[in-house]
Amino acid sequence: MARALKILDSADVSNTGLLALAPVAISTTAARKLNFFNLSRTALGEILSKEFGLPAFRSTQIFQWVYRKGITDFALMSDLGAELREKLALCFEFPKAEIATRQISSDGTRKYVFKLSDGKLVEAVMIKQPTRMTLCVSSQVGCGMGCKFCRTATMGFVRHLSAGEIMAQVVGVIDDAKEFGDSFSNIVFMGMGEPLHNYKGVLETLHILTDHHGLAISQRKITVSTSGLVPAIRDFGTHKAPANLAISLNATTDEIRSRIMPLNDRFPLAELMAAAKDYTTVSGKEVTLEYVMLSGLNDSAADLSRLVKLVNGLPSKVNLIPYNDNAGLGFQTPAKAWVMEWRNKLVSKGINATVRWSKGQDINAACGQLVTESARQKKTVSAERRPSAGVVR
Ligand code: SF4
Repeated sequence: MARALKILDSADVSNTGLLALAPVAISTTAARKLNFFNLSRTALGEILSKEFGLPAFRSTQIFQWVYRKGITDFALMSDLGAELREKLALCFEFPKAEIATRQISSDGTRKYVFKLSDGKLVEAVMIKQPTRMTLCVSSQVGCGMGCKFCRTATMGFVRHLSAGEIMAQVVGVIDDAKEFGDSFSNIVFMGMGEPLHNYKGVLETLHILTDHHGLAISQRKITVSTSGLVPAIRDFGTHKAPANLAISLNATTDEIRSRIMPLNDRFPLAELMAAAKDYTTVSGKEVTLEYVMLSGLNDSAADLSRLVKLVNGLPSKVNLIPYNDNAGLGFQTPAKAWVMEWRNKLVSKGINATVRWSKGQDINAACGQLVTESARQKKTVSAERRPSAGVVR
């Protein structure tokens, strides 16, 4: 027991480098314990080796219990010795995020608001699609990127989520989905926050999600979406991050892009597209370009021609996203026929193009609509009485 407590001493944790492995825990209890959900299997193995002298296969066993069997009580991990189980229980906790609210859309999409240990709220969405469910998770509380068409931007940046807090959304939704008899096959980092701004937390999460002894989610089924943080895009490729990359493009000129995405002033289109190209070269993957269509602003015939040129030679696909009408943000949704004309024109030019029609609009779970209720009440005017929630990228 003394040994178990020793590794939890903050000075020791710092000296042994464990601090980096143990970011903010979600739970308000047992503050001296390590949040298991923050740890990759490699990180867990290092702790078990250093502190208990255990071989690597122990971390594999524990990962399988937690992520494959859903067991988070060490006492039930029957292939571990009784003494070890007691020690582990003193060292680790499994802080699940509390589901503050759950709303179900008429189209089957479910929106969750999770309450974190500090009372902050983040949203995750189970998006119902014809052949699958996709889980959309948040990576930050609020967002500092300031995209003008996005409700989350109205919150401003509050803080990053730790890997454990992102995993808590995943585990929380998995648990809740049992009630519906479904599960997700794909995960997208398109909830609240700019994922590549929280680069460390997101990368750690990706390694946990894809661990073949854990949830074993294929990296082909995970997509991280960025508003265009060029240095992080380059790092994402260099690190061979286990996920697909999507870039929220949304304009074909710097003038319009800077107007709707202030980040474009720092990383203009030419730099962004060069980074996208380099990413595809380094990673060997294609990149998805997301294009939120804002009627009369970025959806002209000239925009379409420029988009074709921008995409030319880039291993990519284009995802057109008709803007979700959010009260008070001042943009308009394009006509469905015009969206389809864009899509068909792109396809006729040999570009892989799809349209992402909104899901969960009646519960504010659609793209660009995510903002926690408390923030909405503070930041929106009383005229806003329709549903909303969200993320747009
Ligand atoms: S669209 Fe994404 S990056 Fe832009 S403000 Fe919204 S959450 Fe942040």
